[in-house]
Amino acid sequence: MIMVPITKPMMSENEAEAARRVILSGWTSQGPEVAAFEKEFAEYVGAPYACAVSSCTTALHLALLAVGVQPGDEVITVSHSFIATANVIRYCGATPVFVDIDPVTFNMDPKLIESAVTERTRAILCVHQIGMPCDLAAIVEIARRYSLPVVEDAACAIGSEILWQGQWEKIGKPQGDIACFSFHPRKVISTGDGGMITTASEEWDAKFRLLRQHGMSVPDTVRHGSSQVIFESYPIVGYNFRMTDIQAAVGREQLKRLPEIVGKRRELASRYKSLLAETPGLGLPKEPEWARSTWQSFCVRLPAGSDQRQVMQSMLDIGVATRRGVMCSHREDSYPANTWLCAGRIGEGGCTTGSCQCLRHSQEAQDRTMILPLFPQMSFEQQDYVVKALQDALLHDALELCVS
Ligand SMILES: *Cc1c(COP(=O)(O)O)cnc(C)c1O
Repeated sequence: MIMVPITKPMMSENEAEAARRVILSGWTSQGPEVAAFEKEFAEYVGAPYACAVSSCTTALHLALLAVGVQPGDEVITVSHSFIATANVIRYCGATPVFVDIDPVTFNMDPKLIESAVTERTRAILCVHQIGMPCDLAAIVEIARRYSLPVVEDAACAIGSEILWQGQWEKIGKPQGDIACFSFHPRKVISTGDGGMITTASEEWDAKFRLLRQHGMSVPDTVRHGSSQVIFESYPIVGYNFRMTDIQAAVGREQLKRLPEIVGKRRELASRYKSLLAETPGLGLPKEPEWARSTWQSFCVRLPAGSDQRQVMQSMLDIGVATRRGVMCSHREDSYPANTWLCAGRIGEGGCTTGSCQCLRHSQEAQDRTMILPLFPQMSFEQQDYVVKALQDALLHDALELCVS
């Protein structure tokens, strides 16, 4: 039996050596390695500023604080995302207003945004779901009309590209106002845990730096390097959202591998598409012509009537790990009715249950889709095995359906 995990970080001696170098250097907290990683990351995505933090969740939290999200405000976003996207809005005391997704791209449907705007709307938080760029041209156009900042949750989109005003650009330049990335091991490159915030605004970048380090006016690196005694002050209440130099050193090595990782992921994704093209009833992901995905996940839509759990179990029984499609935050117990709104019924207080008509494409995507293994080290033999396992599982599932 061949075992195929859902993913596998691509790390080796280079990353281990980088961590060792920092550990033995005497400076392990946020310092010169973080500064170098920020500079290299900014160059890679083409952003004027990049600020490293402890995770994408803390990055998104700081992004919303920087654009001024306050208690009582509303932020337009999607429910169909990892729960951190919606949680950060609530950390600010604001209310997430969920709009539905486009069922093909799994991304925010821009046509629904305007119906969600009220006088309390303070920002749009869009997601490049599982690495697929969302329709930023349409989202940014609406945002500019209403003078709303656009924060991009680009957790899975390190290396994704978008055709922007006739040119291919990296996600994170940013095309919106602020983009936030994740270095969790399930993402494209990893530092164990970690995040990055990019922006073109010097003012916001300065705010991220203040907020990530307790609101401290003079960072410890500056005091350490000074021949004069310096006393720091704390003008605002900040957080400890720092990345360590050990993580940053690993991240710098990961960044060097990024083109190879993205290339390999794209090759495997297109191979999946051709191998699975003839599978009856199976829906395959599509890239809009203006988007290039990292394929952080390869998500397929199961044929109508399939038993999602059964198909996944059949595959697991022969060694193939899969995951259910992306979750819906509004269906979780941590999201009771008074904590969120949906675009379709905003004036009436929104829908109140986990089965919300306004979010039916989001719910359907969670219930009907499945994520297949995809990682750069995956062999063609492993991939062929996954394809066969899926086709057998679907055949078996269809037979059960006929019998019952
Ligand atoms: C993974 C993920 C996050 C959270 O990233 P962390 O670095 O683990 O905090 C946020 N949003 C999306 C869309 C994600 O996929």
